[in-house]
Amino acid sequence: MAVETIYESKVPWNPKRPDTAIISCVDGRWRAQIQDFTINYLKADLHADFLAVPGGIEPLTLFDLVPKDFNFLRRRLESLIQAHGTKRIVAIAHQDCAWYKQHKRFSSTIDLRERQILDLRRAASRLRETFPELTVESYFAFHAGDNPERVVFEPV
Ligand SMILES: [Zn+2]
Repeated sequence: MAVETIYESKVPWNPKRPDTAIISCVDGRWRAQIQDFTINYLKADLHADFLAVPGGIEPLTLFDLVPKDFNFLRRRLESLIQAHGTKRIVAIAHQDCAWYKQHKRFSSTIDLRERQILDLRRAASRLRETFPELTVESYFAFHAGDNPERVVFEPV
């Protein structure tokens, strides 16, 4: 019996393995700017692997607090790197991340942005230890000035 398909994409499939894996939050409101940044500034491939979970790299900071969350992300990342021959990891966090707001595992004396930047640094150093042959970069995306439509990136 023939399978009835309902849609055929006009986009040709590309078998080439990308050398970059991007780790970010799932928040779709930031996706277009993250893709723009990684393609046009970081010169990552349009088809860079994209690993997105709520809160982005946050699980990679939980190796002692919530080891099962840490291991969930670490195992998948390891498998991806092994299968795809990844050369570069780009970690991106964004302003006002709902995951961070809902899961405050930090004292109230430290603000959200500061916490996220500390986490990016911790995750990046753990990634460098775990995968010494890879390049690891991390960035924070936020609104510039008073215009919420403008999104800028800073290296972390
Ligand atoms: Zn988020």
